[in-house]
Order: sequence, then structure tokens, then C-alpha cells
Amino acid sequence: MAQPRSWLEEVIDALHELGDQAHYNKIFQRIQDRGIMNFEENKTWTAAVRSTIERSSSDSKAFTGKEDIFYSAQGKGKGVWGIREPYRPRENRPMTKDVLDKKYRIDEHRAKALSDAQLKKKALSKETKHPKSRIASTNTYERNAFVSEYAKRRAKGVCQLCAKEAPFMDKAGSPYLETHHVVWLSKGGGDTIDNTVALCPNCHRKMHVLNRKEDREALLSAAKSGESHPHVRRLVT
Ligand SMILES: [Zn+2]
Ligand SMILES: [Zn+2]
Repeated sequence: MAQPRSWLEEVIDALHELGDQAHYNKIFQRIQDRGIMNFEENKTWTAAVRSTIERSSSDSKAFTGKEDIFYSAQGKGKGVWGIREPYRPRENRPMTKDVLDKKYRIDEHRAKALSDAQLKKKALSKETKHPKSRIASTNTYERNAFVSEYAKRRAKGVCQLCAKEAPFMDKAGSPYLETHHVVWLSKGGGDTIDNTVALCPNCHRKMHVLNRKEDREALLSAAKSGESHPHVRRLVT
């Protein structure tokens, strides 16, 4: 069963929220309340939690001999477990956006596998008028407004991928294009004028969904040469 994060990470965070020590029942309840893990269709998830703890505790026969993270707090067999001091998180860590995104992708995959009727039933049972908000930590890269504006002006209102004009004007009357880093910042790309292009919203989304090599190459050469329509240029030459 695919999970958005490891059981070990989830158990440590849940146990930390419980004051670094708690009975199995409390741990199970807390993990369920946190709503991160995928246990709905996995009746044995509590066994996964138990084995995660016991494999990482020298107080258990199941100890793997690797990291000794948990201790049996009230003697063996009582089911009360604590986190050893060096492994206690310093604060309640916000869930990372990566984990939440992964959780969404897992659910999306499950949703696609349902029949129409099953899906409708599930959607109705899951719909909510007041979606819960959650603070998530995310790694963001600072980007420079001057680089972005330069790339937009260089494109002169024409998408650098499909070579069509911007689909509409913004409130200030400028052609609406979005800037995109051809090599994503998260993959080591630079926030530089030769890695930044201006795209129409459709092409921008296409790059994020498909990110095809031939499109990347066309965009990089457009960014380097400063040409606004790589395809037109390729047709001409
Ligand atoms: Zn376009
Ligand atoms: Zn982008």
C-alpha cells in the first residue's frame, strides 16, 4: 500500500504530539486524526505501526539492531512507548508540502481505479463545504522580478512555445504571459535570463504536465538567442 511518507516518520511526529510517550491506542488514534496516512483500505495499518516501533526499539524482540529510537515506557507488554531523547523532534513539525502532494497523488490514483458509481459515492462521502487548512512547510526558491519582467518584455506579447499572441490583456493593458524556468529551480536550474521564458497559460501548464525534451530544447534556444518564436524561426531556417 503506497504511503505518502514512511510509518517511522509518521509515528515519531504523532508520538511527539502526544508528549513523546503514549499507549498504542493513543498513537493509533492520533495517526488517524492527523489524516496523512492511507489506511482506509488497509485494515492492518495498526500492525504496521506496531512493527515500526518494535523494529526500532532494543526493548523489543523484533529490534533490527539498527536505530534504537523507542523505549518501552512502563515495562514490556504494557504497550506504552516513548521516543528516546536524541530522536525527539524539537518542535511540532509542519507537514511538508511534498508529503501532502504525494498523499494527493495516491488518492488520485485510487480515485481513477473506481467505477463511476463507486466514485460518486466516495466523492459524496468526502465532500466538504469547509475544507480544512493545514500549515505546511515548503521549500521555495526566491525568484527575481527583474529577470521575469525582462523575459516577458523580450517575448513581446508572444508565447515562446506556440508562437501565438497572449490570450488576453492584463488589467494594466499588457499582454498576459507567464514566466517559466525551463530547467526548474528545484532541479538546479538558475533564475537567469537564459533559463527564463514567457509562455501563454496553456503552454505553461503543458510544460509542467509534460515537460517534453524537444520543448525544453526549443525554449532554451529561444531564451539564449532572445528570439520570441522558436518554432517560427525553425520553420524559416
Ligand atoms: Zn503558448
Ligand atoms: Zn513554470
